[in-house]
Amino acid sequence: MKSVLNITLLFISLTLSSFAFAKETTGIMDKYDTIKIAEHTWGIFGSLTGPSVENKGFMNNPIFVITDKSVVVFDPGSSVQVGRALLEKIRKQTDKPVTHVFDSHVHGDHWLGNQAFFEAYPNVKIYAHPEMIAEAKAGEGQSWIDLMEKLTEGATTGTKATYPTIALKNNQEVKIDNITIKAHLNKHAHTKTDAMYQIIEDKVLITGDNAFNNRMTRLDNGTYAGNIKAMDLALKLDIDTVVPGHGPSGGKEILGDFREFLHIVYDTSKTLLDDDMESFEMKPIIVEKLKKYHGWENFDGAIGKLISIAVLEAENE
Ligand SMILES: [Zn+2]
Repeated sequence: MKSVLNITLLFISLTLSSFAFAKETTGIMDKYDTIKIAEHTWGIFGSLTGPSVENKGFMNNPIFVITDKSVVVFDPGSSVQVGRALLEKIRKQTDKPVTHVFDSHVHGDHWLGNQAFFEAYPNVKIYAHPEMIAEAKAGEGQSWIDLMEKLTEGATTGTKATYPTIALKNNQEVKIDNITIKAHLNKHAHTKTDAMYQIIEDKVLITGDNAFNNRMTRLDNGTYAGNIKAMDLALKLDIDTVVPGHGPSGGKEILGDFREFLHIVYDTSKTLLDDDMESFEMKPIIVEKLKKYHGWENFDGAIGKLISIAVLEAENE
């Protein structure tokens, strides 16, 4: 009798916990389509706004590649909940196991979702730039967990830092079944931790936050010169499709447009600095030159700081 009771209790608790799991994840990606962007490659393109109560922290571009035997994930999002929602989306396309995850850089909106894939597949291999792993462990991981929790008012609670375990080398190729992933590591572009991933067979490039489309970048941890260099490198690759860190995917024009944005801000700052101008005086002149980008999400909110960063970098050049 006692064992029957125990089994009943176990059944009830399992039912409740799976209900809680479903309740927690459902909704985060419901209004976002899973878009096929190349033969084996799919993406879900998150909100253009920053992490919020409304988007529950889902505001990056998770990508997955379905190989002959498995699934490869890139940038699984900002929290364990976003990662689980992504896994639900993958499950609608395939039952194949997720065997590899690649993280683009240390900013937590891109990689804290690792946890969901480690939970579901404890043998999953998680790759990143060696500096990404070092910085994440040195405190960036925890500060991003705290930031996400605050900005989403608790929608990401329960997220723990699941660090990548495999450090990549520049130009390293990782062969996964019928697919090859090539890592392009940058020294100091958007951060000191950036890896861009080329899916060779599909001619796709995942830039991480080295490129943005329709949304303003942040360069608080980056350099204009390094970011422009990363765009120059990317423009030379044999690719048809570009997935930026934020904003919709497209062709190589995304790289050219973003390079031009960086170039206008940086070079104009340098020239005006030579004329002894202060950054607040430069702002209207630079903004005028950036007409093409005025419609980008958070243009007004971000441009002042981006000019200050450009001036500081130009002064130290
Ligand atoms: Zn970033």
